[in-house]
Amino acid sequence: MEKIEIKIGEEIGVKRFYMPGVLLSFNCRKCGKLMEKDYEQQYISFPTIGEQTEYFYCHECDTEHKMPINLKVSIEFDRNTLKILD
Ligand SMILES: [Zn+2]
Repeated sequence: MEKIEIKIGEEIGVKRFYMPGVLLSFNCRKCGKLMEKDYEQQYISFPTIGEQTEYFYCHECDTEHKMPINLKVSIEFDRNTLKILD
């Protein structure tokens, strides 16, 4: 299996990057209420590979949070599975 990872700093070239199945949840640093960000419905705007800041909002106490995330995109494949299309 080979793996190619897109280089840090490269733009993916999409305006809205959704990630179905990715759900981040944290407790608010101020009031302790659970905050969630579901990337099936929410998205990263104009994403770049590597570290960037994501923002999380607590609706309970009206407080915004930020956190660095590291976005990685890779492709894995086995070149032995390449076939001529029937
Ligand atoms: Zn809060």
